[in-house]
Amino acid sequence: MRTAVVPQAIRDWLSKPKALLIDGKWVAAQSGKTFEVHDPATGEVIAHVAEGDKADIDLAVKAARRAFESGPWARMTPSERGRIIHRIGDLILQHADELASIEALDNGKPKAVAKAADVTLAADMFHYMSGWATKIEGKYINISALAAPGMQFASMVRPEPVGVVGQIIPWNFPLLMAAWKLAPALTTGCTVVLKVAEETPLSALRLGELILEAGVPAGVVNIIAGFGETAGAALAGHPDVDKVAFTGSTEVGRLIVQAASRDLKKVSLELGGKSPNIILKDADLSQAIPGATAAIFFNHGQCCNAGSRLFVHKSIFEEVVEGIAKEAAKIKIGHGLDDGVDMGPLVSQVQYDRVTEFLASGEQEGARAVCGGKGLGGKGYFVPPTILVDTNPGMKVVREEIFGPVLVAAPFDDADDTLIAEANNTIYGLAAGIWGKDGGETQRIANRLKAGSIWINCYHVFDAALPFGGYKQSGWGREMGQAVLANYLEQKAITTRIG
Ligand code: NAP
Ligand code: MG
Repeated sequence: MRTAVVPQAIRDWLSKPKALLIDGKWVAAQSGKTFEVHDPATGEVIAHVAEGDKADIDLAVKAARRAFESGPWARMTPSERGRIIHRIGDLILQHADELASIEALDNGKPKAVAKAADVTLAADMFHYMSGWATKIEGKYINISALAAPGMQFASMVRPEPVGVVGQIIPWNFPLLMAAWKLAPALTTGCTVVLKVAEETPLSALRLGELILEAGVPAGVVNIIAGFGETAGAALAGHPDVDKVAFTGSTEVGRLIVQAASRDLKKVSLELGGKSPNIILKDADLSQAIPGATAAIFFNHGQCCNAGSRLFVHKSIFEEVVEGIAKEAAKIKIGHGLDDGVDMGPLVSQVQYDRVTEFLASGEQEGARAVCGGKGLGGKGYFVPPTILVDTNPGMKVVREEIFGPVLVAAPFDDADDTLIAEANNTIYGLAAGIWGKDGGETQRIANRLKAGSIWINCYHVFDAALPFGGYKQSGWGREMGQAVLANYLEQKAITTRIG
């Protein structure tokens, strides 16, 4: 794979020391340690970043606490806060090209995709959330107070920010995940310590610079790059953090809950998935085939909501699988910064090994690869689009989240209880797709699927106004939409005796 040309402006930015954002200043780690960040298309080192750990988390939490309890953020009106949050969205759009280049280089995804999806949606998240800053309302409740006869009361419920929030994010959408987490926390008036993924810290560090430029006061947003076992664990268990918000694997989600349980912190979790994508016999295949292709191969399958289990009516199974394989063959694999590339490398050697081990296990258990099936080997962490057939529900490739460009496809007889049971036969419940022309049938199926997002005749449609999150082991709480505000608000009931 040839090495792409990195824009000079990005080279210049990368050559400057990459520090931690604590209390409005960029600082080295207390330990003085740094870690290497790699271009996953080549394996080459592209930056050295300060490696935060417990000592840095302590400083960041102290700064966030100070900013929450006193200082300009605590006194700011919702209108002022909203304007600053809106400005962050504007700055993201002004720097869209640069942020997309950083994302392509660090994560491996195609720059055009990063620009159209990650950067656009990240800006929109700040713009959308900024409007809520002035619309968080309480209630007046006319209470009966039966145990206090003869007395009169006036009660109100006042929503208040939960406090200092620890946020931990993964590497699959580094900038967008930072936006999903930061925007609602800021909107509600919380202060934040954000731990970014060690594989992809760069775009969030650039976002930190833009956040300061937008006028967010010192200490309100602190950004720590570092490892999960050190910085992440210290944040999740920190006694002065009021709430932890996490996106990542279900396995680490459990560790977060354990760490947070000592102080009974509030926790929200956005975890893994193994989402069913159902193609009914009357589906418009000119939509369903490219739709199912994108459902699994978008972002190289590194999406928690990827449509990774395909169920196709048996009468059209061969045609659909062949159609997706044809679409997959058109996907141009290469460096994310090269023009015309549709699919880059997986994010790291670890993910390459993980995904190729899944492919080997599928083969051993008797699944057949219609296309792909092996890692490309050589430089970079490239795995081609893969479709596995001849699968059964017991196989590891069918049960577990692969988080790579691997689709498992199975035929079904009728859109009946057996199909619904099989689609719901997973520990996860994040998303599902349904393709069909009968509106009643698709709605009935949607109602019975246990998943937080259902897409009918579409897939991967995200919007800042729509709640996103999981049933079952896919998580707790919702990201985005009005629903996310609940993650960051306490409800205080204030009662006054008036007679
Ligand atoms: P992960 O281990 O869950 O990492 C997510 C974040 O949690 C990273 O910032 C990570 O830090 C941090 N972390 C790890 N261990 C921690 C701990 N003990 N305490 C606190 N924070 C901790 O995910 P991954 O390793 O990147 O990917 C592994 C698998 O997770 C994937 O193959 C996929 O199945 C799943 N995944 C799901 C999503 C999703 O959106 N649902 C996203 C990414 C991955 P580091 O910087 O050390 O990684
Ligand atoms: Mg990287």
